[in-house]
Amino acid sequence: MKKILVVGSVGIDDIETPFGRVERVPGGSAIYFSLAASMFSKVNFVGVAGTDFPNDIIELMKTRGIDIKGFEIVEGKTFRWSGRYHSDMDNRDTLLTELNVFENFKPKLPEEYKDSEIVFLANIHPELQLDVLNSVHKPELVISDTMNFWIDSVPEKIVEVVRRSDIFIINDSELCMMTGESNFLAASDRMLEECSLLKAIVVKMGKFGIYATDGKEEFFLPAFPLRQVVDPTGAGDSLAGGFTGYLAKTGDYSFANIKKACVYGSITASYSVNDFSISGLKEFDLDDIESEYDIFKKLTTF
Ligand code: AMP
Repeated sequence: MKKILVVGSVGIDDIETPFGRVERVPGGSAIYFSLAASMFSKVNFVGVAGTDFPNDIIELMKTRGIDIKGFEIVEGKTFRWSGRYHSDMDNRDTLLTELNVFENFKPKLPEEYKDSEIVFLANIHPELQLDVLNSVHKPELVISDTMNFWIDSVPEKIVEVVRRSDIFIINDSELCMMTGESNFLAASDRMLEECSLLKAIVVKMGKFGIYATDGKEEFFLPAFPLRQVVDPTGAGDSLAGGFTGYLAKTGDYSFANIKKACVYGSITASYSVNDFSISGLKEFDLDDIESEYDIFKKLTTF
């Protein structure tokens, strides 16, 4: 089993969906990612929170075996984000983004983190993603993610991150935004052309599933069919957590195994959206995941 080093946001969110409104709930890309990935493999966590971050989440991370030596708690307020979903749950308006303690954060990696075989650069300022990338020794696999907030503000820095990544995981609309293409397939081709180190690109399309390509082969997977989605926040990070966790568990980075990792990522995301915030990721186990893997197989075989 390989170890995953993750850097990303740690947040306190206010979320409104057609199912209700919750305030000051735990969130952040690295929190969702690590709770999801820890179902499959060992996670070394790098992030920062203020003294207002709930202690029970730190305890939950410990019970999941997540190494939190790189999780700093500093005087001040945790990153804050607030979003409101439209009735279709596909689109959301960001109402607030406050960097708070992230503004002066310089990641300090514990020495033993530097040998992590897999590095996951979750959604956060690309400068911080690059800082981490510059501090690790020689990872076998670098996977990165980002979002519109950073594409709007520091696009050239994101390209620098993707140029140093093996796999780029991104939303279809954000990929189009980055490349200037209006079609996500053309956008994927463009990204693979421009970033020659990329071995694969994985495009998240919400309820329409996942598209992945390595430039030679293409793969489409529907989303796991759910009758009800309560809160899509963190679905992309949970998907990335299940995806990366499976690659770490198997140590196989071939495109054939990337396809399987998409299935595990998709199942993990389906748990996340069942409830508000990280609640959907609290209680599920590998047996549940395996039985859903079989359901997925039946659904997509013809
Ligand atoms: P997702 O739904 O996958 O986009 O992830 C939502 C999570 O990302 C929320 O819990 C937020 O706290 C966090 N988030 C929102 N905006 C940003 C940002 N600009 N940088 C880093 N994390 C963010």
